[in-house]
Amino acid sequence: MAVMLHKFRPFSESYFNTMSWQTIQTQPLHGLAGGVEQAMAASREEMKSLLCSLIAQKSISGHEQGLVQFAHQWAGEHGFTTDVWQSTDQLVAAYPQGHARHISLANRPTLVLGIACCNPSRPALIFNAHSDVVDAPAPERWKFKPWMATVTDDRVYGRGACDVKGPLVSALWAMYSVSQSLGGPANAPVLLELVPGEEDAVGLGTLTSVLRGYHADCSIVLEPTESLPRLASRGGLRFAIGVSGKAVHGTVKWLGEDAIAATRKVLDALDQMERDYNCIAPDPLFSDCPIARPITVDFIQGGQWQGMVADECRCAGYFEMLPGDSLEVWQQQFRSDLLRKLSAVGIPANSLTVEFTETYRGHRTPPDALISRLAEKAVAESPANTQWQGWKAFNSGCEAGLRANLHNTPTLIWGPGSLAQAHAADEFVNFSEVERVAAMFARTIDEWLRLR
Ligand SMILES: [Zn+2]
Repeated sequence: MAVMLHKFRPFSESYFNTMSWQTIQTQPLHGLAGGVEQAMAASREEMKSLLCSLIAQKSISGHEQGLVQFAHQWAGEHGFTTDVWQSTDQLVAAYPQGHARHISLANRPTLVLGIACCNPSRPALIFNAHSDVVDAPAPERWKFKPWMATVTDDRVYGRGACDVKGPLVSALWAMYSVSQSLGGPANAPVLLELVPGEEDAVGLGTLTSVLRGYHADCSIVLEPTESLPRLASRGGLRFAIGVSGKAVHGTVKWLGEDAIAATRKVLDALDQMERDYNCIAPDPLFSDCPIARPITVDFIQGGQWQGMVADECRCAGYFEMLPGDSLEVWQQQFRSDLLRKLSAVGIPANSLTVEFTETYRGHRTPPDALISRLAEKAVAESPANTQWQGWKAFNSGCEAGLRANLHNTPTLIWGPGSLAQAHAADEFVNFSEVERVAAMFARTIDEWLRLR
């Protein structure tokens, strides 16, 4: 285990204030340095097979260990420094992410790997990937097997292909190619943290790395962003709404109170709230999204006995907000709007419970932050940059909010693949996109290492 010296270094904001855009422009990079390009090309087949091996690791939230062990071994064999450890629930308990409902951290290691570095006190760039994936509960709805990668032409199919093993391979490919071309240790830290549990409790895994002492001067969170860097992400909260009624035999239902029928009104109220919230202070970075603040019920359960009116029904889901929204203010508004709407249709507050079981913060990094400018430059120098239409947000919550809020870390979200395929049957990523993003990451790393 290599414990690196840059740990516990305080955030060097002043360093960046003294580092101007001029510094970057005086050291232009017109295309990838020859060595990097060669190293990328030489490892293409290996990277494709790495992606297939990662997909074959069934790393559903709570079961990340096998994937992390595999990545740890791979990193060691490829010359990276590594630090793998096991965090505890007690360690994170003092933080909101730690007391949110989550799968226990037992047997869920975190891994930080890095390019060998001779100057660990220099500003650190950290990539962030979550090691977990969502389950594939109905494999019969897949044309391809979810837990065995299938490669057809350019596409690689399998659970996690785009969320987030494809983006992870882009970062590993870039880091490996740059390290191969250096011919010695790097002069500044370039790290990757592989954190558990993003699909279960957003931010918790990155918190384990922060508490280990890893401090970054900027961060790139790997997620499927259609290959373009994004500079903002959503905050959100998980709600659980319970309705209690009174059970009676269905033939005398007028004597009971039907909790399932009442939950139908809860769903109607949530739909109305989602429409109402569209009109409140929209964010231009999210102008592509027809819904400003999505409210998505993903769980519903009610009824105990057949033939009975249900005396209890619960539903739960996510309310996703804009980066500037205050979680506390919106939590209050959500609760009061829901209770008011339900009271108006005859469901009293005392038959309802509204709980918030998880919250995570959104973030926004300025377009003129150093990492934003480096990324924009890498996109501009990429051979196929026609999709770039200026800065936009990533339309989801993710690990980006953790470091961005806790340490003010300038953070982008970036990776191949699309949210349209994430969590879906026949999830895939185009391998050419994995490669294209790897090349842009390599440019960004190369620039990072050239900064004085
Ligand atoms: Zn993801």
